[in-house]
Amino acid sequence: NVNQVKMQFASLPENVALARVVVATMMSNLEFTLTNLDDVKVAVSEAVSNAIMHGYHNKTDGLIDFAVTLDGEGLEIIVADQGQGIQDIAKAMEPSYSTSPDRMGLGFVFMQSFMDQIDVKSEVGQGTVVRLYK
Ligand code: ATP
Ligand code: MG
Repeated sequence: NVNQVKMQFASLPENVALARVVVATMMSNLEFTLTNLDDVKVAVSEAVSNAIMHGYHNKTDGLIDFAVTLDGEGLEIIVADQGQGIQDIAKAMEPSYSTSPDRMGLGFVFMQSFMDQIDVKSEVGQGTVVRLYK
């Protein structure tokens, strides 16, 4: 039993909720627990928020590619932007590290703790791809 949804949406803050709803709807048909669902919703929100806020600096004309794949094995979520990119991924993923003075620097920490696996690829000036697995 395989299901896959791929979509592209604008870098608007309200699309964080859109991405969350898509994942939640897809997961509701399967044997995921409610805890799993909440964890995944947090992780997706963090990844999409980062694409909007850091990738595109809150500019609303950026595009975010979003893909969710569910099979018998588990769940894969891809969030990709073509924004500014990350210079040092290891540093960006450290707890409390943020390039925005008003942020907590916890998004990657949440993604890491709420998902089983996270994989980040990024190129300065090209964009960032975050893969989340559960
Ligand atoms: P919080 O998530 O707690 O609001 P934050 O977004 O700064 O704060 P993280 O989500 O952990 O913290 O991200 C850490 C840093 O990694 C960001 O401050 C930013 O510099 C960089 N970053 C994360 N995602 C992206 C992205 N898609 N494009 C460019 N830079 C990113
Ligand atoms: Mg963040």
